[in-house]
Amino acid sequence: MTTLRSTHRVVIVGAGLAGLRTAEELRRADFDGEIVLIGDEPHLPYDRPPLSKAGVRGENPDTTFQPLEFFAEQRIDLRVGLRAERVDAVGRTLALSDGSTLAFDELVVATGLRPRHLPGSESLAGVHVLRSLDDSRALAAAANPAGRALIVGAGFIGCEVAANLRSLGMDVVLVEPQAAPLAAVLGPEVGGRIGRLHVDKGVDVRAGVGVREVVQADGRVRSVELSDGTQLDVDLVVVGIGSAPAEAWLEGSGVRVDNGVVCDAQGRASAPHVWAVGDVAAWTGANGAPRRVEHWTNAGDQARVLAAALLGSDTTLSHQVPYFWSDQYELKIQALGDVDAADTVHITHEDGHKFLACYERDGRLSGVVGAGLPGRVMKMRAAIMAAVPMTEILAPSA
Ligand SMILES: Cc1cc2nc3c(=O)[nH]c(=O)nc-3n(C[C@H](O)[C@H](O)[C@H](O)COP(=O)(O)OP(=O)(O)OC[C@H]3O[C@@H](n4cnc5c(N)ncnc54)[C@H](O)[C@@H]3O)c2cc1C
Repeated sequence: MTTLRSTHRVVIVGAGLAGLRTAEELRRADFDGEIVLIGDEPHLPYDRPPLSKAGVRGENPDTTFQPLEFFAEQRIDLRVGLRAERVDAVGRTLALSDGSTLAFDELVVATGLRPRHLPGSESLAGVHVLRSLDDSRALAAAANPAGRALIVGAGFIGCEVAANLRSLGMDVVLVEPQAAPLAAVLGPEVGGRIGRLHVDKGVDVRAGVGVREVVQADGRVRSVELSDGTQLDVDLVVVGIGSAPAEAWLEGSGVRVDNGVVCDAQGRASAPHVWAVGDVAAWTGANGAPRRVEHWTNAGDQARVLAAALLGSDTTLSHQVPYFWSDQYELKIQALGDVDAADTVHITHEDGHKFLACYERDGRLSGVVGAGLPGRVMKMRAAIMAAVPMTEILAPSA
């Protein structure tokens, strides 16, 4: 059953990875109607992972996904520098920041996330967040090898920024309220290992500590007081305390949001003809609960399922094994499967900072995390899909 016809207009709001991939998938599936892709940034759609890696080092990586000609060739009406401000889900129109109104037959919300700021420090010189290309360029311009940087929050972005500012020679302090970097996502055992990696590279890692106050003079950050009372003079602060779904513009539309646009297992939101994909979307998982996933591979996987669903197919994500990675110093840290900080962790291989951690839930393998061992990580895919009993994984091979 095909729901879309060639006379239909699909409007995608958010010209990032998920939005672009949805447009591409629709064309690949021979959808012949109109596709409008709206993005509020002034750039062609670009890739974010390099922003916290080569971008921080000032290497100005080319992150553009597709050249301008691609959009003309594919008949994707790309409109950048334009923000969607409101939706009338019943009348099926969007109000845009240039004052115009755009009608849609199907609306795909792909607006990603907005980074959280430390309250009161939003407009302070020397305090940065990192989500966009412009953020990355501003941070790279502010990095000073002779200075000291404080990174607030040791999630993936905080850890990557710490690694790259350190590699530029900066004195780096990484503060994290949890017991170890990345502990909230990967658990304390693996988090502790990643913390030791940073310490060995010369980062001053302070776990169990937050920021009490950012002290400024003349509109610029000068020092920071930590929750344990420590005062640190700093040249640069990078706030990596997470991001929130960019969903405020849906207020009053009747589209249900609850830490993300709540969707079924194919990306349908609560209002007819409205869909959501990527970081902003909370798709219903196998356990029946909506869940947001803030990783690159997920955006593309969801875009494929959503585009197929728009065209009448009933495929879901169920055959996909979740995957994400993070590059820190010379190590690629990879997570395959549904790893959870509360799972029991078994280290099955280690060699210096390299390791393979197997995650156990209800006696079975739920996923693996590896550092510097990409081959070993990927070999576990079939065992993760089969949820092999942990005893089999841990049994000494004959
Ligand atoms: C610095 C950084 C490094 C990362 N590194 C990794 C990594 O190593 N591995 C990994 O797995 N994942 C990584 N990720 C995550 C990955 O990049 C995201 O999962 C992916 O970008 C999600 O794509 P998206 O299209 O959902 O959101 P986005 O890429 O954020 O795109 C959303 C777009 O919508 C725009 N928008 C928002 N509101 C509106 C509006 N009202 N009107 C119009 N446009 C709007 C936004 O400005 C943005 O351009 C990283 C993310 C960041 C920020």
